[in-house]
Amino acid sequence: MAARGASLTIAAMNTSTFSSATPSDEDATPQLPRIAVLATGGTIAGAAADATNTSGYQAGVVGVEQLLAVVPALSTVARIAPEQIASVDSKDMEMSLWTTLAQRINTLLADDDIDGVVVTHGTDTLEETAYLLHLTIKSDKPVVLTAAMRPASALSADGPLNLLNAVTVAAHADSRGQGVLVAFNNKIHSARDVVKTSTYAVDAFQSPDIGALGWVQDGRVEFQRSVVRPHTLATEFVIGAKWPHVEIVVSYAGVSRIAVDALVAAGVRGIVVAGTGNGSIHASMQQALADAASQGVVVVRASRVGSGHVMRNGAAADDALGFVSAGSLNPYKARVLLMLALAAGATGPVMLQKTFDTY
Ligand code: ASP
Repeated sequence: MAARGASLTIAAMNTSTFSSATPSDEDATPQLPRIAVLATGGTIAGAAADATNTSGYQAGVVGVEQLLAVVPALSTVARIAPEQIASVDSKDMEMSLWTTLAQRINTLLADDDIDGVVVTHGTDTLEETAYLLHLTIKSDKPVVLTAAMRPASALSADGPLNLLNAVTVAAHADSRGQGVLVAFNNKIHSARDVVKTSTYAVDAFQSPDIGALGWVQDGRVEFQRSVVRPHTLATEFVIGAKWPHVEIVVSYAGVSRIAVDALVAAGVRGIVVAGTGNGSIHASMQQALADAASQGVVVVRASRVGSGHVMRNGAAADDALGFVSAGSLNPYKARVLLMLALAAGATGPVMLQKTFDTY
């Protein structure tokens, strides 16, 4: 593992300045959009001791100014307002950081001088953060997450082009009102649909079944479909409430009821189960979950499969057992929605099923 001193040959910038088009041009030509770039860490800000090392590196050690400095073309796309929000490996993402990030984005987007936001993030939990922001940002201005699979110090690092493309998408008029977007490897995904599907490939994100929203290349942005389910301004969710305790369990051959019983004893408000197939659950675990539901714990059935959806009353008798179906949300996104819904005061499987059918 390399630490901060790794041999990156990238120039530092003055933290108090905007990276912008030549100031003297500003009177003569229309101003470029102003995009806030909020850095949170991740592999995009990772460094290893040697350029051929793309797996043994330290995430989140390169600052936002250095990330911007290696992409001079940014100044032809937008005026950049950089901020270092955090420097974490996103495997260690915490809900308190989600609150900080969402509140900061809401504040920035309420400012008439900011036209959009880009968030640099680790790939590991990017899909969770993106969906959380999709449901809690109160603006129709573009919010675009991006990341990298190779650290900033690597040969053929993918971060710089991903960053340029993310800013390009955030600065584009067509990105407005589409909810939170993820720009990665030339594709534009909806935050609701996108998932990480590879441990190593630079094409690490997909929107299973449904496909990407569009693409970005060489400054051109094209959307090929739009987002149908409500998001951002159209949700009832606000950031800042206390996060309810919701955990995830997985069903598999020979699973016991021990984990579910332990979570109930620990006082969880909700359990999402990553079931087999169409959200089916091993009989032992299903009995434990039914017992949990009868004690008021919300049980949401999702699937561990990675694509498709979970049909209500399909693989389990949801009506009889008091369970909720996650539909096409994977277990990690289902947990985000369940936490927000519980924080907003939703109770009972009927009301919560409506929430899952809506978002
Ligand atoms: N562990 C890293 C992170 O999620 C992985 C990455 O960014 O690709 O922060």
